[in-house]
Amino acid sequence: MKLSSEPAGKSRELALRRLTETPLDVLVVGGGIVGSGVVRDAALRGLRSALIDQADFAAGTSSRSSRLLHGGLRYLAQGRLGLVREASVEKRTIGQIAPHLAQPLAFLFPGRRGTSWALWKLAIGVKLYDALCGMRNFGHSSVLSVGKARHSLPGISTDGLTGAVRYYDALTNDARLVLDTLRSAEKHGATVCNYTRLAAAERRGDVWRCSVEDVETGTSLELKTRAIVNATGPWSDKLPHANTSLRLTKGVHLVIDRDRLPMADAVVMAEGDRILFAIPWGERMILGTTDTDYTGELAEPSCDASDIRYVLDVTNATFPEAKLVESDLVSTWAGLRPLVADRNGNPSDISRRHEVKMNEPGWWDVTGGKLTTYRLMAEETVNAIARFLANGAVRCETASRPLLEPSEVGHASAIVPPAVSESIVRHYCQHEWVRHLPDLMIRRTSWRHYRRDHLRVASEAASWMADELAWNEATTQAEIAQYTTFCALAQTTTNG
Ligand SMILES: Cc1cc2nc3c(=O)[nH]c(=O)nc-3n(C[C@H](O)[C@H](O)[C@H](O)COP(=O)(O)OP(=O)(O)OC[C@H]3O[C@@H](n4cnc5c(N)ncnc54)[C@H](O)[C@@H]3O)c2cc1C
Repeated sequence: MKLSSEPAGKSRELALRRLTETPLDVLVVGGGIVGSGVVRDAALRGLRSALIDQADFAAGTSSRSSRLLHGGLRYLAQGRLGLVREASVEKRTIGQIAPHLAQPLAFLFPGRRGTSWALWKLAIGVKLYDALCGMRNFGHSSVLSVGKARHSLPGISTDGLTGAVRYYDALTNDARLVLDTLRSAEKHGATVCNYTRLAAAERRGDVWRCSVEDVETGTSLELKTRAIVNATGPWSDKLPHANTSLRLTKGVHLVIDRDRLPMADAVVMAEGDRILFAIPWGERMILGTTDTDYTGELAEPSCDASDIRYVLDVTNATFPEAKLVESDLVSTWAGLRPLVADRNGNPSDISRRHEVKMNEPGWWDVTGGKLTTYRLMAEETVNAIARFLANGAVRCETASRPLLEPSEVGHASAIVPPAVSESIVRHYCQHEWVRHLPDLMIRRTSWRHYRRDHLRVASEAASWMADELAWNEATTQAEIAQYTTFCALAQTTTNG
């Protein structure tokens, strides 16, 4: 367990040493939400567990989502009741075990004549949605007249408008959900290490021998484990011994100032059969998303000019008076959905189901699913591992056990970014595995996406980080320069 007085570098050295010291029961590869859920569950069941990520925790898809805990109202229209029920139960479970990460959010979905979204269909849909949640949804759905819809959605297009329904999901903070899950895992005995990559694995007898690279130094380490979980999301067909088939689709989000679309509730914006969201996020509004097949590089998918055009066009069609243009953007991000392959049909129609498969003795591939269903995916995975390791007696507790104790929640503002302060930067460096500027600016705080002055903040924060992480002047300047270039490139893509 990390002690508050340990320097950040020292605790990483200890974690790396612990990885190799004693053979593990379970090595989880991938520190997105799925891997984090698995390692916490395994640790709570008393398994000797560790998790590694080749980059920062949550650097993949799990910091690039729409940040919703949702059953998926649109899957009802596709008749996927089982999937919606599963996710609806899970969203409530997260609401109970981690209330600081599930802020109830009302959505207004306008009904329009001559479209797939007739008001009467929506009215039945939202009642069913509440029922699939066991009538324990974050709020009760209702139907609004045209007048009330127009009042609640200032500037909404009245084209064919017949009213609206109001239904409920919750807003979360995807990267914070990962980090808090890892904090809990570490507290219960798991070792977690970012910037550590699985390079090779070979099974000898009952044991997997793994070669792991410390990405920070290029050093190679050897470790032994009885089971491995491949939870590498978009990378999951790249690992040795993996037997998965993925279809990757890209989704982008745009961030604008809240006063450009001043609404209290989230809004569903329909474009044909697809739907997009406008989601209030403190002083900002998140617009998204897209769903297009993707074959490019995996680490930093970009939001290109056509993605931006599409999201702005749909938003402007829904709110013609907003007249949003590119210069309204505070920031953008793009993420890749690691969907279980289904070569047919529209990306938006591909199921978000998950798969937990043991391909070789002791090797599990866990793919698909959603942020919302991560806990269930982890439970199924660890159930299977516990059976395999003949350790089946310990039951899963993650559906009822709080993610953090109330005293542990304190420091961070969970949904909306915290205020900039030296103490919070030092806290993240000491307790939350920060190694580089983007770890702080994107995953720990979201300042990069929320604050227009994030470059100034990055430069200020770097001086505090330098102290904590023993950076010399050259390293500090290199970190600032890399962060600035990274953001400028994202901006060029945006403008280009
Ligand atoms: C645009 C978009 C919007 C979404 N919105 C929502 C939403 O609102 N609600 C919802 O419930 N779901 C949503 N999702 C789905 C959800 O975000 C994903 O299902 C989930 O984040 C996937 O998590 P993961 O852990 O499987 O993958 P990731 O988060 O990508 O984690 C995989 C990790 O594996 C690491 N890795 C890869 N190779 C190696 C290696 N060799 N060694 C060590 N580590 C390695 C990577 O660095 C990465 O951190 C959305 C997805 C997208 C793309």
